[in-house]
Amino acid sequence: MQRSVAKFGISSKRGRTRTSNDPYLPEGGHKEPAICKSCHALYQQKRWLLDPHTVEAMQNRPDVQWVTCPACQKIAEHYPEGILTLSGDYLWNHEQEIRNILDNEAERVLAKNPTARIMQMTAEDQSLVIETTEQKLAEHLGRVLNRAHRGELQVDWSGSPRICRVNWERWQ
Ligand SMILES: [Zn+2]
Repeated sequence: MQRSVAKFGISSKRGRTRTSNDPYLPEGGHKEPAICKSCHALYQQKRWLLDPHTVEAMQNRPDVQWVTCPACQKIAEHYPEGILTLSGDYLWNHEQEIRNILDNEAERVLAKNPTARIMQMTAEDQSLVIETTEQKLAEHLGRVLNRAHRGELQVDWSGSPRICRVNWERWQ
């Protein structure tokens, strides 16, 4: 892990207080316009957005920079910044419903912020673990789930390296 992220210069940035929001975005951002060659998100006015029509109209322009957006880089390198862990018997009795809540909410967030994504959702050791590309998404999903299915929610931003760890559990 450490070795594979090193080429993006992340290992040194993770422990540091960040001045920019994302270690996967070059200092000062990309030149514009830029399009992610993997997910076709568009980078304009210093932010990423989904705009398929504009991307289609732009893609043959010689001044377009073809880059890999922070979310696609983190997914490729398996570098989650948020980890939401769900556990308890209640979870497994309502698994499909809970997965739907998370999927729907993630889709809603993605429409506004294409670099906030669920990286993977895996069942391990009686828990369901959801890894996200951005810290805030893990917290947000935990809160949305907890509003719909009251359980115990813990949000921990104190970890170093800086990952937002969110735990939710409900037993009955
Ligand atoms: Zn991308």
